[in-house]
Amino acid sequence: TVDAPRTLEIAAIPADGIGHDVVGAGREVVDALAAASGGRFSVNWTEYDWGSDYYAKHGVMMPADGREQVADKDAIFFGAVGWPTVPDHVSLWGLRLALCQGFDQWANIRPVQFLPGITSPLRAADEKDLDWIVVRENSEGEYSGFGGRNFAGRPDHQEFSVQSAVFSEYGSERIIRFAFELAMTRPRRKLSKVTKSNAQQHGMVLWDDVFDRVAADYPEVTTESVLVDAMAAKFVLKPGDLDVVVASNLHADVLSDLGSALAGSLGLASSANLNPERRFPSMFEPVHGSAPDIAGKGIANPLGAIGSAALMLEHLGLPEEAAAIHRAIEETTRRGVLTPDVGGTATTADVTRAVIDHLALVP
Ligand code: ATP
Ligand code: MG
Repeated sequence: TVDAPRTLEIAAIPADGIGHDVVGAGREVVDALAAASGGRFSVNWTEYDWGSDYYAKHGVMMPADGREQVADKDAIFFGAVGWPTVPDHVSLWGLRLALCQGFDQWANIRPVQFLPGITSPLRAADEKDLDWIVVRENSEGEYSGFGGRNFAGRPDHQEFSVQSAVFSEYGSERIIRFAFELAMTRPRRKLSKVTKSNAQQHGMVLWDDVFDRVAADYPEVTTESVLVDAMAAKFVLKPGDLDVVVASNLHADVLSDLGSALAGSLGLASSANLNPERRFPSMFEPVHGSAPDIAGKGIANPLGAIGSAALMLEHLGLPEEAAAIHRAIEETTRRGVLTPDVGGTATTADVTRAVIDHLALVP
């Protein structure tokens, strides 16, 4: 069957720091693939200058109608937020979380894999296989924004602050069911649930209950329950024992940084913030932040962002194109074209060029 040619409408939001370098790299790869696709698809990019520079001029990270401006796009390709001139919680909530939560991107997918030619801290160990997906609850939990500061500026009182984690049955069930469905698509069909329910009486205890209930619908999936501290150790000591890992907003955020470091660098890790119902655009971004220490130096590792572009194409119904990007990434690392974070001397542009040179739609 020959699909009708498609034009993808994509919002590009590089935001801050190396977000500019890596979003540019991802766009180049997608454009090269579109050019090679024989008319199968093309991309119409719209770039938005939102972020910490925008904040310096306007006092906000994005315009008040920012969300409406991108609501009709097929997807959002995002860089990273965070710059020393803006408090981190302001930049995060003012842009990235505003989009994530505003578009109900409640499932955050973070693959963790070994790549050929990359020296991982685990490569020396027996565990040769590192191939997981961290599924992060992305709409509530510890990042529900619920709470407040009390007695601020009152000389007669000590200030205290409350930040409540909210775990709803609805929110827990949909992410846990999503993780079971994902596990069903993978050869090993294993799902590990992460909580800290032993130290809580309420929130994550609900997760345990919901998990047990949903698990009854998926008898083919092997499950385990691991506390988050034990899981951090297991990531390092028994990586080959894991497949799909589902965790709360905060826990999965921490664990996926650990996972990408174990794979070799934070710069390698990709991420998809999905609105699975497709009522709103989903958002694709590298796991890493804006890395002010290497911003503007041209040496940021673009592979996390390029891999995120592949997740975006897969989401938009172009799985062969996504696979072509993954193969080109592997060929690039296998040949040793590596940025300094993974032990090489190549620039962002060198790595991007190498990925483009190895794009081939037929394996
Ligand atoms: P955030 O709060 O947004 O998660 P962060 O403070 O955790 O950000 P990152 O910006 O993610 O920090 O990066 C931490 C460090 O990892 C950086 O200072 C940088 O040295 C390194 N790093 C991150 N991403 C990359 C990349 N793509 N290429 C090379 N090095 C990177
Ligand atoms: Mg971080």
